[in-house]
Amino acid sequence: MTNSPSTSKDQAQPLKPSNFLRQIIENDLSSGTYANRRWGGSPGDAAHHQAGKQDPAKVRLRFPPEPNGYLHIGHAKSICINFGLAKEYGGVCHMRFDDTNPEKEDTEYVNSILDAVQWLGFDWQFNNTSHLYQASDYFESMYKAATILIESGYAYVDEQSAQEMKDNRGDFSKPGVNSRFRHRSVSENLKRFQEMRDGILSDGSAVLRAKIDMAHPNINMRDPAIYRIRHATHHHTGDKWCIYPMYTFAHPIEDALEQITHSVCTLEFEDQRPFYDWLLERLIEGKLLSAPAPRQYEFARLNLTYVLTSKRKLRQLIEENHVTGWDDPRMPTIVGLRRRGYTPESLRLFAERIGVSKSDSWIDYSTLEIALRDDLDPKASRASVVLDPLRLNITNWDAVMGEGHLEPCKAPVHPHLPERGHRHFNLGSQVWIEGADFQETPVKGFFRLFPGNKVRLKYGYVIECTGCKKNEAGEIVEVLALLIPDTKSGTPGSDSVKVKGVITWVGVQEAAKIEVRMYDRLFTEAQPDAGGRDPLTTLNPNSLKVISAYAEPSLLSCASDERFQFERHGYFVSDRLDHSQARPVFNKITGLKDQFNS
Ligand code: ATP
Ligand code: MG
Repeated sequence: MTNSPSTSKDQAQPLKPSNFLRQIIENDLSSGTYANRRWGGSPGDAAHHQAGKQDPAKVRLRFPPEPNGYLHIGHAKSICINFGLAKEYGGVCHMRFDDTNPEKEDTEYVNSILDAVQWLGFDWQFNNTSHLYQASDYFESMYKAATILIESGYAYVDEQSAQEMKDNRGDFSKPGVNSRFRHRSVSENLKRFQEMRDGILSDGSAVLRAKIDMAHPNINMRDPAIYRIRHATHHHTGDKWCIYPMYTFAHPIEDALEQITHSVCTLEFEDQRPFYDWLLERLIEGKLLSAPAPRQYEFARLNLTYVLTSKRKLRQLIEENHVTGWDDPRMPTIVGLRRRGYTPESLRLFAERIGVSKSDSWIDYSTLEIALRDDLDPKASRASVVLDPLRLNITNWDAVMGEGHLEPCKAPVHPHLPERGHRHFNLGSQVWIEGADFQETPVKGFFRLFPGNKVRLKYGYVIECTGCKKNEAGEIVEVLALLIPDTKSGTPGSDSVKVKGVITWVGVQEAAKIEVRMYDRLFTEAQPDAGGRDPLTTLNPNSLKVISAYAEPSLLSCASDERFQFERHGYFVSDRLDHSQARPVFNKITGLKDQFNS
């Protein structure tokens, strides 16, 4: 590949599989589609860019969220695609807030979105310049674009009622009907549009429409509305404007002002592409914008089983207290996934593995968890933790080892990374074991503790079970065992006694008590909102269980947001917000394998 970008080689990344977006970009790079573009140093119109130098960025992409909520896993896919492609091909991805809608937006969301993108490992710097933009800065250019359309006979102020407009749109089988306002003169349109801007007209009383073709087979081309009246305060421009551009009009102009080359979006915008192209052609003819125009490409949005990706439905979960907030570890938001213990690397790996396609499909949640385990397994420190503690009493301990003796034991921090050293803990006569590791009357195939059977206490000695003690209710409260001398792990002859079972344990004297939040999926159905179903009817009542567990003492010294593999149990993280050494709190990230028992 002659035009494969130097940056990807420099970073010595493994060769990434091609996809239709990479192919499009590679074709554009090799045919020089955008090679002569100029860049005026900031977004602007044709004259501004013409006065600049040849654009040092080979491609420009953008990530354009509306700041009306927290980003979710679907946005993470879009972020990885846009920022990832820009980086791979020697370009830049602009971080742009699509804040053209005055009513729903908030600066709280702006900050959380910037945070999420950076946490995922991306930024909007290129050649020491920041490319953080907001669409509302372009309102004046958009107004100018609308004026140019009017002057060239491509837009008119329509004052039909909303109902009339709807009735006259037609449908798939029926062409639309021209508005009686469609033939207004240019000067009348200019005057009326100015009056819209001046605040003389009330909300909904008039719209500016593009003049294309009311019989067009694509309904989006039947004179789409491009400006509407909204007497509303905008979080950035305040009360300066009372008319606001429609998204479909604003978006292509934003792209063009920023000299975007590849405008990548989700499939629902496919039907808008003809208008995107039509509009930019008109504005290049009108000399407002420079050629070549950006091009729009669509990919399938992410649908993930057991997960909702609609902001409205996620908000409802919070408002009705089914979760504690946007950052509840069960939420598919980026802040939620982060608090749950997901890593940026695992989300990027996931995005790379699912790739991009042009048709909608569902991705199984396990794909995300596998990417997570693949990232965590080689990194996470190991720890011994007993989640469902049952006391084990080694009755011959004092006789064999000496009264009150504590035997030092050690285990690798990571089994494949000896350079990370060892964890140290002590074995004494009293240990916590998992309740499930003892069966008084063993079922077939059970080879852990039952009377007469021998197992190894991991990193310690072999013991032989002799029975158990029960309380008055008949519940098992203590398991009894005998230590078998000279079987300590790592000492000569330690494997002279053969055992089938190895169990985890924590010494009672030094056990650290920890809170563990055992999370499970939020919904019981793979497609919680399929077919218009209310997803709340499929809420999993057991999506959170808080338990008290015992951990080896080394775990007490961890910082918050540290990930571990609790041996035999899965991956856990010290909670970013609630964990402290005084009150250790861990979240279950995921199990060791794709299984529902934990
Ligand atoms: P929501 O439906 O949750 O409100 P949205 O599409 O309105 O999401 P935007 O803020 O408009 O959210 O999205 C910013 C970018 O993220 C857009 O380019 C959009 O296409 C993309 N995006 C949103 N949801 C998904 C998804 N599920 N998969 C992939 N990309 C997505
Ligand atoms: Mg949106």
